[in-house]
Amino acid sequence: MKPAPNSAPRATCKHTPPCPPADAPDHGAARVTALVAAQGYALLCNGVVRTEDTGEVLPDGQVVPPYLIPAGGRPGSPQPADHT
Ligand SMILES: [Zn+2]
Repeated sequence: MKPAPNSAPRATCKHTPPCPPADAPDHGAARVTALVAAQGYALLCNGVVRTEDTGEVLPDGQVVPPYLIPAGGRPGSPQPADHT
């Protein structure tokens, strides 16, 4: 991508208001720039990758676990803890 003379350091938005940065609490509110339905994830404008189960991978590699439990869907076992 080519540098714009007037752009903020991290902003890649071409729209206003710009999306929240990836490290903002509301980063999930960024616009979807690419939807890969076959793989079940979406790339947000701020570089965050959101999976269909609401998990997220931040641009720095940090993984955010899903925060939504499927309605009516009940997992067979509690969340996997580290097993010995
Ligand atoms: Zn944006």
